[in-house]
Amino acid sequence: MTQSNMIDPFGRAIDYLRVSVTDRCDFRCVYCMSEDMTFLPKRDLLSLEELDRLCTVFIEKGVRRLRLTGGEPLVRKNIMHLVRQLSRHLKSGALDELTLTSNGSQLERFATELADCGVRRINVSIDTLDADKFHAITRWGKLDKVMRGIEAAEAAGLKIKLNTVALKGFNEDEIPEMLRWAHGRGMDMTVIETMPMGEIDGDRTDQYLPLSLLRAQLEKQFTLTDIPFKTSGPARYVEVAETGGKLGFITPMTHNFCESCNRVRITCTGMLYMCLGQDDSADLRDALRASEGNDLLAETIDRAIARKPKGHDFIIDRRTNRPSVSRHMSVTGG
Ligand code: SAM
Repeated sequence: MTQSNMIDPFGRAIDYLRVSVTDRCDFRCVYCMSEDMTFLPKRDLLSLEELDRLCTVFIEKGVRRLRLTGGEPLVRKNIMHLVRQLSRHLKSGALDELTLTSNGSQLERFATELADCGVRRINVSIDTLDADKFHAITRWGKLDKVMRGIEAAEAAGLKIKLNTVALKGFNEDEIPEMLRWAHGRGMDMTVIETMPMGEIDGDRTDQYLPLSLLRAQLEKQFTLTDIPFKTSGPARYVEVAETGGKLGFITPMTHNFCESCNRVRITCTGMLYMCLGQDDSADLRDALRASEGNDLLAETIDRAIARKPKGHDFIIDRRTNRPSVSRHMSVTGG
């Protein structure tokens, strides 16, 4: 396997790229977006061909894992064209994994084709298994549609990991049941702390549930054993003796995971963010459009990687009741 030639100032090799293919979503999760979000005009978006070209340059520079996200990646028009194009890098062996983070709403339509393109596992975000609560938290989502999407993905042979944002007073009591449900279906699960990104309608302090507390609650009914299992993401995993499955904790707030960060993100307009929780970025769209060759693009990427920050500085408390970064998660993707 080739080692990435993108090494940041802290010696971290960048081999994981997350690409937000659209900022639009068919849900309006209350902790993620405000109800009346203003989305980018379509003309500002990179075309699918430009996204493919960008991803290909990153792969040539050493990216081994690529995750499409958003917004909701499966609502981008003709998204399967991009997935199919990118799958050539799986076939050539240049890429180890092509995957997606999705809310599941469109999976029923796309699961078989995703599997056909070489996608092997996907993350599906669900915060509750109660249809009314699901509608309340997503504002627009329908749980039964997502469930049909999960069934379609299972039938297509895709391995699913459930992503659940832990929200105080909303789903903390339900997480044991969700864990049993997920593990009972052979799906791993990851719980995530809410991060202060972008203005939302509510108060984040009210929603924030430190996962150290959740873990203590879970340990009253489950035996959790830390395991060294790693995916390319930031989760730390435990094995749950009673269910035989894995549970991941993504704890940007209570335990900063930046020391092992191996990833960068690009937005659907071609901005490269070297850290999810910092504002510094590099405009790759200009570099992309300035010439037909990729030299300028590669140089712009190198200059950006050379200033990848050590980590994020997320804070949620009553005194700091402002987002740490002004952009929503849907801009850079989860
Ligand atoms: N639409 C896709 C989905 O639902 O998974 C991909 C994009 S979504 C922004 C990716 C993940 O980020 C979801 O699991 C979502 O719950 C999570 N997320 C959104 N805003 C968040 C926040 N402020 N803090 C923590 N997680 C957040």
